[in-house]
Amino acid sequence: ARRRPGVSNLLLVVAAASSGGLVAYADSGSDAAVEKPQLPQRKKVVVLGTGWGGTTFLRNLDTRLYDVQVISPRNYFAFTPLLPSVTSGTVEPRSIVEPIRRVLEKKGEEIKFWEAECFKIDPQNKKIHCRSNLGTNLDGNGEFLVDYDYLVVAVGARVNTFNTPGVVENCHFLKEVEDAQKIRRSVMDCFERASLPFLDEEERRKNLHFVVVGGGPTGVEFAASLHDFVTEDLSKLYPSIQHLVKISLIEAADHILTMFDKRITNFAEDKFGRDGIDVKTGYKVVKVSKDAITMQNPGTGDISVPYGMAVWSTGIGTRPFIVEFMKQIGQGNRRVLATDEWLRVRECDGVYAIGDCATINQRRVMEDISEIFRVADKDKSGTLTVKEIQDVLDDISMRYPQLQLYLKSKQMNGIADLVRSAKGDAEKESVELNIEEFKKALSLVDSQVKFLPATAQVASQQGQYLARCFNKMKDAEEHPEGPIRIRGEGRHRFRPFRYRHLGQFAPLGGEQTAAQLPGDWISIGHSSQWLWYSVYATKQISWRTRMLVVSDWTRRFIFGRDSSCI
Ligand code: FAD
Repeated sequence: ARRRPGVSNLLLVVAAASSGGLVAYADSGSDAAVEKPQLPQRKKVVVLGTGWGGTTFLRNLDTRLYDVQVISPRNYFAFTPLLPSVTSGTVEPRSIVEPIRRVLEKKGEEIKFWEAECFKIDPQNKKIHCRSNLGTNLDGNGEFLVDYDYLVVAVGARVNTFNTPGVVENCHFLKEVEDAQKIRRSVMDCFERASLPFLDEEERRKNLHFVVVGGGPTGVEFAASLHDFVTEDLSKLYPSIQHLVKISLIEAADHILTMFDKRITNFAEDKFGRDGIDVKTGYKVVKVSKDAITMQNPGTGDISVPYGMAVWSTGIGTRPFIVEFMKQIGQGNRRVLATDEWLRVRECDGVYAIGDCATINQRRVMEDISEIFRVADKDKSGTLTVKEIQDVLDDISMRYPQLQLYLKSKQMNGIADLVRSAKGDAEKESVELNIEEFKKALSLVDSQVKFLPATAQVASQQGQYLARCFNKMKDAEEHPEGPIRIRGEGRHRFRPFRYRHLGQFAPLGGEQTAAQLPGDWISIGHSSQWLWYSVYATKQISWRTRMLVVSDWTRRFIFGRDSSCI
């Protein structure tokens, strides 16, 4: 131990960060420096993303233990479940966002935040390549490198257009706060345009035709909230054109809200029917032009409908730099990052992935499987031979290890049982299977294998779990004899991640919500709407946003929604 003599009337903090020496403090009241043993250099944790996964991880992480850096192109956290409410002005955009620096400040430790996006991960050298849109460095490209010991990838997903022509150019998406603001402005523009004096009735109808593509929870909630906005508020402000308004909801599957219980699906379809929302199931949108949406149905062929505004909400896809990363680490044939039960990216030291970039829902899996079938059906006969089915199943197993386990399990006994159960014929071995039978067989698999849904609930539970593991990491390293769990062939210091499903909501408009709670307990109606209000008020990230959201709801009850978009 060394002393630093003669330092007085001055607060000196010398952090011998990289050397193995001592940290010396001198305070104004004493000549003698107080020596403290230096903490070992902290490991660098880099967090990509400030959404549900990243923010929950940061809030639960003991940041005294690590040197933490956060990188995201968005300097705030957004409460996405209320985005549909922003499109109709029920809730203001500012009420559902929390500046990330405020979240970090509450931790009391210095955490660095860089407003930038990562565009490449280099797992060999443990570096990430980032780019800032704000300024430029001397090279003029705003790029910089960040080292990590542990990398937490929580970058979410992007919208999926399935490469449908014209979607990017002509449709709105509902993924970010800016998207919701644009939709709100666009709805008002449609009403103002339809009110102009020189338009004929057909043009007015076209402007007031709102099309929602995708009958999942987001599309359904948006259609419901738009319907409420139109009937409760805009009809009073635009009485002469309100009868021309039409809302269409287009879904490729046979029903909307397929991830919910049948009772909810039926209730939603009936309610929308009564509300005058035109639900078109079994239609696939194949093209969107500036003026019309073209869709296909096996019975009717192509149909083109004119529209004023369209919102595309058909699901999510993988971000391009994650696709590149997956190729680098041998996961090129997968749709999302594969992690083990401890959320570590497979074959990639020190990299963890949470949230939408690492989870996939059942619906997307089934779409994928149908696509694999279509590709395998080379002669377009609609049937596959047993050999081809075997190849398809190999492909599916490779992409989805969860299914592989199931396909090999006793109940299915591999392909032979799959074919038999689909054909309902236990004797035949060499059969041909058409796509409908194949889907039927796979729906058996589908009902047995649970995939994690890509939801805020999963992302935040993963963020919380991972933070707890990080908090215990040092302890576990120092006491390896500690709580070691044994699972399969491996041993690990932590319990594997287990998702606890707390239920899901589908707001259907008119102050009615469908709730599917744990234990398949179903509740539909006004009481569930109050449950929805209380859950979403409770789940707010701060008291500030909680107060703002509750006051927005109160304002809406008293004065109605605000139709001006400033
Ligand atoms: P996100 O929350 O999307 O966060 C991703 C973060 O990564 C963002 O901060 C983004 O800026 C950042 N990022 C992006 N690219 C980069 C990059 N290159 N480098 C660094 N950072 C990057 N779920 C529910 O459970 N209940 C609901 O009611 C519900 N409603 C929803 C309604 C809507 C309209 C939407 C769009 C989603 C809804 N979800 C709901 C789903 C939920 O929002 C997502 O599952 C959740 O946000 C996933 O969390 P995440 O952390 O993986 O991604």
